[in-house]
Amino acid sequence: MKVPLLDLKRQYATIRQEIDGAIREVVESQVFIKGPKVAELEAKVAEYCGTKRAVGVASGTDALLLSLMAYGIGRGDEVITTPYTFFATAGSVARLGAVPVFVDVERATYNLDPALVEAAVTPRTKAIIPVHLYGQCVDMDPLMEIAAKHGLVVIEDACQSIGSEYKGKRAGAIGHVGCFSFFPSKNLGAYGDGGMVTTNDPAIADKLVSLREHGQTEKYFYWTVGANSRLDSLQAAILLVKLRHLDAWSDGRSRNAERYNARFAGTAVGTPHREPHCRHIYNQYMVRVRERDALEAHLKANGIGCALYYPMPLHLQTCFKDLGYKEGDLPESEAAARETLSIPVFTELTTEELDYVADTVLAFRGRA
Ligand SMILES: *Cc1c(COP(=O)(O)O)cnc(C)c1O
Repeated sequence: MKVPLLDLKRQYATIRQEIDGAIREVVESQVFIKGPKVAELEAKVAEYCGTKRAVGVASGTDALLLSLMAYGIGRGDEVITTPYTFFATAGSVARLGAVPVFVDVERATYNLDPALVEAAVTPRTKAIIPVHLYGQCVDMDPLMEIAAKHGLVVIEDACQSIGSEYKGKRAGAIGHVGCFSFFPSKNLGAYGDGGMVTTNDPAIADKLVSLREHGQTEKYFYWTVGANSRLDSLQAAILLVKLRHLDAWSDGRSRNAERYNARFAGTAVGTPHREPHCRHIYNQYMVRVRERDALEAHLKANGIGCALYYPMPLHLQTCFKDLGYKEGDLPESEAAARETLSIPVFTELTTEELDYVADTVLAFRGRA
């Protein structure tokens, strides 16, 4: 049997009419930049996340970049974050001439360990970027306390976690701003690139609206140098359709995760740890085994799609060599990079396919 890691064609098949209608409407209007669809999506995402405002941008990467810019973070400033994340988290910091300061993750959740954060704060620290990895929120209460104590901005990288909850609050509504990506493989995925920033601070939202259009105050007048980073109407129209299905899809992923958890219970296959006060949306379902590379080869040989997120933690990347980190500095991040593997968990996965994946993983364990 062949099982893909993610099959978006199956999702499209369930919403084809709605999507095709939404695309046709935008094409007939010939309004492709800004326009009513973007404004409607911004209002709906703000409502969904529980924030006052949401500002559409061109990608999750730009959501991070423009958020940092909105708080004036730049050359010489330090930003504390995790090295076990997608590159954009730290890449956006470095692009502004600021310095990413990497702090290790918790072994169980793979998320930034709040207990290690305060020791990394210096007089130059301006912000913290917690990443809600794989669909589960960082332990935000202690982090917000540290941020308040030291006057730091908290920029949630919620790119993998739209709809994820922490003690009743949604991702993107806990820190000062929340950054979302609509990259096709996220739980809410566009048909191209897209992103959004959520915030309860109207002044920051207004700054973001300006920054995404070159820093303009009014047409052809600029208070700062921003970017061209707009969300386009076609993507907004598609996302408006998909947002209506998002909770059902995330629940489907959660059900699949629970079935895997039951299949792997009592074996040596490590399963994702869900904190009881969190809603996990399972953008990825990670298994943890010592012989990860051998398991990856075994699954691929048996037709199962799987992926390494992320094989090289950011503190060891060539582009960050000058920051001076070495192997062994952030052991939990390095262990996670070595020992984890993402297996198919998408909503439309059939029970038969899921059991085949579980059987194949367990057969490997039986042999090892
Ligand atoms: C996907 C992702 C991003 C970047 O989003 P893009 O839309 O691809 O630019 C940033 N951070 C994390 C954790 C992500 O998963």
